[in-house]
Amino acid sequence: MTHLELDSVTKVFGDPSKDGVVAVNDLDIDVADGEFLVLLGPSGCGKTTTLRMIGGLEDPTEGEVRFDGTVVNEVKARNRDVAMVFQDFALYPHMTVRENLGFGLKREDNGMSNEEIDDRVTEVAEMLEIEELLNNKPAQLSGGQKQRVALGRAIIREPRLFLFDEPLANLDAKLRKTMRTEIDELQSEVGITSAYVTHNQEEAMTIADKIAILNDGQLQQLGTPDQVFNEPANLFVAQFVGSPDMNLFDATLDDDGDAYRVDMDMLSFEIPKTLVETEITTENVLVGFRPQDLYQSRRRVTDGPEFDTTVRVVEPVGTEAIVHTTSFLGDVTAKVGNFHDIDAKDELSLTIAPEHVYLFDAETEELLK
Ligand code: ATP
Repeated sequence: MTHLELDSVTKVFGDPSKDGVVAVNDLDIDVADGEFLVLLGPSGCGKTTTLRMIGGLEDPTEGEVRFDGTVVNEVKARNRDVAMVFQDFALYPHMTVRENLGFGLKREDNGMSNEEIDDRVTEVAEMLEIEELLNNKPAQLSGGQKQRVALGRAIIREPRLFLFDEPLANLDAKLRKTMRTEIDELQSEVGITSAYVTHNQEEAMTIADKIAILNDGQLQQLGTPDQVFNEPANLFVAQFVGSPDMNLFDATLDDDGDAYRVDMDMLSFEIPKTLVETEITTENVLVGFRPQDLYQSRRRVTDGPEFDTTVRVVEPVGTEAIVHTTSFLGDVTAKVGNFHDIDAKDELSLTIAPEHVYLFDAETEELLK
C-alpha cells in the first residue's frame, strides 16, 4: 500500500519561458493508503499528464511526486512498481491470455518458479472469471474480456499503485457499468492505492473514494463524491458534476436582517441566515437549482420559491423523469417522480426548499451557499 502525494506539481510542455503549454498547474493532491482517486475533468484539462507524472512517464517541470513520503521524481517508470491499465488494453496479440498474464512475472527477477507463476496466473484468472479463456489469443476475446485480461495483468504483480487511463472508454455503455463495478470491487479487495482518469462524471461518482476535478490544468476541488456534488467549490464543479445540469439564473442579493433576499427576474424569495455558514456581502450572484431538488408544488409545500412553467418534453428515466420546461425564468429542467400524468404543453408549478438553493458569486464563481 502506498500513500501518494503530489506537491505543487506543474508540467509545462515546450519552453516555460516562451510559449510553453501549462498542462498542469501547481497541483496538490494527497491520496491515502488504499484510496481510490479519480482525476476528472474535460478534454485537455491535464488528467493524463498528471497520471503520467505519477507513473514516471512524464517529468514534472516543478514540484514533487512522493510515494510514502519519498520523492520519486528521479525514479524511472520501470522502477516505480506501478501498474497501468489503458483504454486500448495493450495486450500482446501473439500471446495467449495465460502468457499475457504471466509475462510481467516471467520478465522480472522475482525468484518465482514457472510453477509458482502458473499458480498465480490461475489465481488471478479465477478472481476475474477468465479461467476458460486462458488458452485464447486476444483476437478471440470480446472487449470486456480483453479489459479483464488487462486488469489481470495489472494486479498479478501486486504493485504499489494502480494507474488507469480511461480504461473503459472503448466499451459499450452496459459493459462500462459492469466493468466499473468490477474494478471498484477488485480495488477494494486488493486494497491497492489507485488513480483513475476519466471525463465521465457518472463513472467518477460511482467508483471514487476521492475525486480531483481539474480544469485548465488547475485543481478545482478535491473531495469525496458526496462533497463535490453537495458542496461544489465553485460554478465549474457544480456544472461539471451532476446530471442533468444545474439550472442557473442571475440574481441580486440583499441582506434582510434574519435572511437574505434573492431577487430574480419576477421572482423573489428569502434564504434564512441559519442556512448560510459565512456572511455573504456579494450583491450579484448566480442562483442554482439542481433538477433533482425541484418538486411539483402541488405535491410538496416548501417555503422556497415557487414558479410556473410549461412542459416541453418529458423524458422517462426508470422510475423518474427529466422534465424540460420553459418559464419566465428561462428554461428549467426538473427531475421528478410521479410523472405519468405530466405531458408536453402542461402547466407545471415547481418549487424548491431554501436549503437546496445554491448561490455563487457572479464574478469569482465561488460557492457562497
Ligand atoms: P483528454 O481527456 O483529452 O485525454 P487530458 O485531460 O488527459 O485530456 P492532457 O492529455 O493531460 O489532458 O493534456 C493537457 C494539455 O497538455 C493539453 O493542452 C494538451 O494539448 C497538452 N499536452 C499534452 N501532452 C503534450 C505533449 N507531449 N506536448 C505538448 N503538449 C501536450
